[in-house]
Amino acid sequence: MVGLSKRLAAVARHIPSGSVVADIGTDHAFLPVYLIQTGKAKKVLAGEVTPGPYHTARETVRSFKLEQQIDVRIGNGLAIMQPGEADVAVLAGMGGRTIISILIAGSEVLEAIKRLIIQPMRDVTVVRRWLVENGWCLADEEMVYEDGHYYVIITAEKGNEKIVDEFILNVGPRLLEKKDNILVDYLKKRFANIDVVLKRLDDAKSDEARLRASLLIKEKEKIREVLELCQ
Ligand code: SAM
Repeated sequence: MVGLSKRLAAVARHIPSGSVVADIGTDHAFLPVYLIQTGKAKKVLAGEVTPGPYHTARETVRSFKLEQQIDVRIGNGLAIMQPGEADVAVLAGMGGRTIISILIAGSEVLEAIKRLIIQPMRDVTVVRRWLVENGWCLADEEMVYEDGHYYVIITAEKGNEKIVDEFILNVGPRLLEKKDNILVDYLKKRFANIDVVLKRLDDAKSDEARLRASLLIKEKEKIREVLELCQ
């Protein structure tokens, strides 16, 4: 059985058993192999835009003798497939803005996707906002901590969800509802870090520094409220 990082294992948890999955930006193709080996997926389309990782993915699939179940394709984003070829799409380990541009470019294929599992390396707030403004609801969220980094996994399904509060988009509505332990840990660190930055800004006299300080004080207050609720 192929071993997965904590981050990719969390991504796999959000895939319903027996799905047909498109793993966009598959790189080494460890996730597709795991999904087939565990029966989570009955078929995986593994997409890669870069020739190096594409060949690595093909080699991984060949070494596990899974060529019948995992179809490694080279191409940009969702363009590797026709609408309806997969019901779940995974976009993990890429920047949030890259993920959004892949979703926009692949709108026709996206129509037929029932569930998106997204793990952005940055700009998580931007991804959440894009999803809720484009006919998706945030069905579930998970946070994992691995090798000194916090990672967010978002499961989105078709639906209407209105979130206007920037702080909620920032921390994650489902994580907040669950009073997620790792989110709490992350917010405690963020709270302490804001204090450090505020001390530094205390000496700065520019309007910019004052504006930044006032935003951080507001954020700190919101974090305090959340941490009190999570006690
Ligand atoms: N998904 C794996 C994971 O989470 O461990 C691999 C992440 S790796 C850091 C990102 C991969 O996405 C790279 O191999 C890169 O070539 C690929 N990639 C970036 N943009 C892409 C695009 N538009 N279409 C397909 N693959 C893309």
